Amino acid sequence: MIVADEAAMLAVGEALAKQLRPGDVVTLAGGLSAGKTTLVRGLLSGLDHRGEVPSPTFAIVQPYEMVEPPVWHVDLYRLEDPSELDELGLDEAADVGVLIVEWPERAGPHSWPEALALSIAVDEDGARRLTATVPAAWEGRWPLP
Ligand code: ADP
Ligand code: MG
Repeated sequence: MIVADEAAMLAVGEALAKQLRPGDVVTLAGGLSAGKTTLVRGLLSGLDHRGEVPSPTFAIVQPYEMVEPPVWHVDLYRLEDPSELDELGLDEAADVGVLIVEWPERAGPHSWPEALALSIAVDEDGARRLTATVPAAWEGRWPLP
């Protein structure tokens, strides 16, 4: 999917928000400034979150427990070793809500086999190219209806 500009990326996030169910994990791969956090901003806006959506690069985990379903926005950029994941409480979060994970590769290759795995690449003209690996749980939900 081609995502022409920031507004289009926000719209993808908003549309994705309508598909989320508790227990879902969405991983967002792509380099610095690919547009991962922009997609999450659209997603939270789609869940009627009003207010800031800071990049959780330093906090690693930013919870949004007042939206439905609750969302944990995770940025593993600064994770130094996959063993640090255990301390973040993500398994408990994924039981009741949705995990959205930037830099999932930092967690090792097999952390979320059931995740909707999105990847954002930057085209020569600056547009973003979004590709998805779609697990069984997401059939009928991605491509976005
Ligand atoms: P990341 O979280 O991947 O590091 P951000 O979402 O924080 O990236 O930043 C993406 C930057 O790229 C923003 O400044 C945004 O305005 C810009 N941008 C340009 N085109 C797009 C696009 N098609 N989709 C998303 N962001 C875009
Ligand atoms: Mg980011």
